Order: sequence, then C-alpha cells, then structure tokens
Amino acid sequence: MPIKISHRFSILSFLLFKSFLRLLAKSALFHLFSMSTLPAKSRLRGVVFDLDGTLIAPVIDFAAMHKAVLGDDEYERVKAENPYGIDILHHIENWSPDKQRKAYQIVTDFEIQGLDRLQIMPGAAELCGFLDGKKIRRGLITRNVKESVDMFHQRFGMMFSPALSREFCPCKPDPAPLLHICSTWGVQPNEVMMVGDNLKDDVACGKQAGALTCLLDENGMYGSQDFADLDLTPDFKMCSLKEVYSLLESNFDLRP
Ligand SMILES: [Mg+2]
Repeated sequence: MPIKISHRFSILSFLLFKSFLRLLAKSALFHLFSMSTLPAKSRLRGVVFDLDGTLIAPVIDFAAMHKAVLGDDEYERVKAENPYGIDILHHIENWSPDKQRKAYQIVTDFEIQGLDRLQIMPGAAELCGFLDGKKIRRGLITRNVKESVDMFHQRFGMMFSPALSREFCPCKPDPAPLLHICSTWGVQPNEVMMVGDNLKDDVACGKQAGALTCLLDENGMYGSQDFADLDLTPDFKMCSLKEVYSLLESNFDLRP
C-alpha cells in the first residue's frame, strides 16, 4: 500500500536523521572538548627591556663614537669585519689600561651628550602602564652608563627594577644580567620576555638565559637571512612597542 510504504519510508528517514543528529552532537562535543584541552597561553610574569632604540629613540651617533675611539682607518677595518655592528666595549676590553680609560671616556662623553636629546619611544608609556595594570614586573638591561638610566627614569616618570647598566658585568649578550633579574624576581627565565632592538645583544642575551625573546625591528632591518647568519631567531619580531602591547595582551597569560 502506497500509504504504508510512505509511512515506512518516513520512519526510516526519521531514524536516519536521528542517528545523524546524534553523530553531529558527538562531533560537536568532541570539538568542544578539543578546544578546552588546547594548550593554555604561556604564562608571563616579567618583561625586561633594552634602553637605547627600544624604550628611548636612538640618540647616539654610534658611527661617530666608534670613529672617535678607533680612528678612521681602524674603524673602517673593524666595521668590515663586523657587518652586524661593532661591539666597542668588547673591542676595547683588552687594550692597555691607559688606552682603555681614554676610550671609555670618549664613549661616556657621547652617551652623556645623547641624554640632552633623549626621547621616549612611542608606545612605551602605554605598554608600561598596561604591564603595571597587570602587576607584571618590568626590568631593564643596557650597555649604557648608569647616568643614562637615572636620566631616563627621571624623564619617563616610571621606574624599572632591577635596571642594570654597564656597571653590571658581564654585559649583554652574556645572559648574566637577565639571569640576575630573574633570580631577584624569583621567577623562571622562561616566564620572562626580553625585548630589544639588537639581535646580537638583546636576543642573544634572552636566548642564552632561556627567556622568550622579542626583537623590536622598527625599520625592517632584520630578515631570516640575518637570523640564519647569526644562528639567532627571536621568538617574536615586532615593528613597534604598540605591536608588543598587542602581542602580550592577546597571546599571554599575564599574572604576577
Ligand atoms: Mg638597543
């Protein structure tokens, strides 16, 4: 009978549809379960910043400083050997005490003169205010002198603690200053991010300490070839402190 056939067909369709719904529900539940078991955001308990070129705009004429210390000819020779920048402090490390003292004086004079032109980097105040709101620790490591850090604190109106200048030895890229900060804070290095604009100082220091690293590359200076050449790949590369703010806000579990 047509009606019975149709009726049987309806029951069959209904049962099939019910099974389909059951499967769909199971699949949805599985999906929800999977979502809930995805790895949680990494916890971040502290951020350590570089100073020059990161929290303050670059104000030191490094080429002029290096020429004044090395002399024109030696400067050209050393520059050719170090395409990623001259590490002047390391370079003068083994000079005779007298020659070294004069070199340090030249470097310090350039740094102190730079303080008159000191400008806070765009986004620095907002980022630090955000970290303060989350009670996330803020530290600072610079190869600049303590006077520069004092002047920065005074102008910026916010303190970084600890704030280690080049009087703390050894300097970046050695991991010692960053490990010292982690130990002072009582946190593990992998719960801390090092933010800086220098691949071979800031990123090297952070990686050797076992911290997360964020390269601030405002002018797009660094690419994958540079990371390969120096065998240093930062965990993150950002164009501005505003981008660092977004990165921290969206991707990390920020708890002190
Ligand atoms: Mg720097």
